Amino acid sequence: MRQTSQTLELALKGIVVPGFREWRSSLFVVLAATCACTYTARHVGAQERVDDQASVTVLRGATVIDGTGLPALAGATIVVEGTRITCIGTADECPAPENATWYELSGKWITPGLVDTHVHFSQTGWLDGRPDGVDATQIFPYEAVTADLKANPSRFHRSYLCSGITAVYDVGGHQWTLALGEQAEDDPHAAHVRAAGPLVTHAGLDILHADEYDTFLPMSNAEQGRESVRKLKNWGSTAVKVWFLAPGEARRATLDAAIMAVGDEARTQGLPLIVHATSLREAKVAIRAGATMLVHSIFSEDVDDEFIQLVVDNDVIYTPTIVVMPNWIRAVTSVALGTPNQADDPNGCVDPGTREKIADVAAVAPYLSEAQANEDYARGALSSIPARLDQTKRNLKRMYDAGATIATGTDAGNPLTLHGPSIYSEMEAMQDAGVPAADVIIMSTQNSARAMGRLDDFGTLEPDKIADLLVLGGDPSADVKNFRQIEWVMRAGIMHDVSDLSYDSAK
Ligand SMILES: [Zn+2]
Repeated sequence: MRQTSQTLELALKGIVVPGFREWRSSLFVVLAATCACTYTARHVGAQERVDDQASVTVLRGATVIDGTGLPALAGATIVVEGTRITCIGTADECPAPENATWYELSGKWITPGLVDTHVHFSQTGWLDGRPDGVDATQIFPYEAVTADLKANPSRFHRSYLCSGITAVYDVGGHQWTLALGEQAEDDPHAAHVRAAGPLVTHAGLDILHADEYDTFLPMSNAEQGRESVRKLKNWGSTAVKVWFLAPGEARRATLDAAIMAVGDEARTQGLPLIVHATSLREAKVAIRAGATMLVHSIFSEDVDDEFIQLVVDNDVIYTPTIVVMPNWIRAVTSVALGTPNQADDPNGCVDPGTREKIADVAAVAPYLSEAQANEDYARGALSSIPARLDQTKRNLKRMYDAGATIATGTDAGNPLTLHGPSIYSEMEAMQDAGVPAADVIIMSTQNSARAMGRLDDFGTLEPDKIADLLVLGGDPSADVKNFRQIEWVMRAGIMHDVSDLSYDSAK
């Protein structure tokens, strides 16, 4: 079927089989069982996979939202052979091959795995990873923080899978992050990773510029920018990420020329240009320099028609990252006001060490600047959050209405934007902005996989794609909050019970 009638199959996915779910509901409870049936695989290509990957898994009875934008298919059957999906359709269309492991999933929903297009393995989720924001290096020496991050990326992978994220784009980090993609690709206990490596920028603190960290590569002028891109290419980076802040008027011409040169060199080297530019003027310059993806919203002002046109005409991917800024404010003000933080982590996916760290605000308090420590200032900053959220949501809605391609990204690793579960509040904010839940799902799966350049492999549930998918207890197309009700995550054909990935034994 996969080879001969994929179009037919896609058409059939839209058909709800009458009575099918009712029939399945008698088998309501999730049940893994070995099938003793003697079906013969009728899918071209399936046999090779069975040969090199013995496992065959059949998911039956759930409502499948496949991420393509087609209507949901109730009472669906998904067959997974080895690491790939081989069939999606009705039970008749997708008979189970021999020796399959079956999951009865009536009353559940299945979606593609979520893809977070904006994370940083080089950041912890707390202030210790950002000494340029709060310099607490006396208690959190940066060298020790980075060594620990490098030694243990698996804690973030566990949190990603536990939260339903099966792929992430690391859009800026230390040089060692460049190896993560290959390490994670075939590991069913890790999310897929694409990494841009060190940021190219005209900004940043000296401590982060130090050679041993390579957080940043310089871009003070055009030639320096070109050299930084060539360095990234030599290191094996898969993208050029530019941190482009609004410069004072005196430096504008030089820095505009620098980013144009970076864009030109990136094209020469065959690397996509992805840009952090949260001010409108700089974002426009970035697109003219060849940016294929903007990794943030315009935060501080309304987008205008010229910007929208540039994004749409150049097919630039717009990643709103709505919650990271409020989370920064909450992080710093929680220290100023002595309010311990709790993770927004419904399934207990964040490791206990990180949870303890974000709760221990007293430890960081001595290291706030005078302004940060001022309680009135802190309360004022907190009260500015709703207006900031309104700004980014308004911009998202305008971009959405104009038909821009929007992808989901959290900026995980920043203070209180925790690797993994922060994707829930981000998707909920996108929904609150006025984007229908069904489209937030597409942005968080298909569009985000496209942003990573991996849509051929994952991001939708279709025959021949890698079997990365979620089993949810609630309908996410009714409300994306239902992603919080994740029960199973499949990565590369391997089913993980979320309660096994959780650190909370009660879960
Ligand atoms: Zn970021």
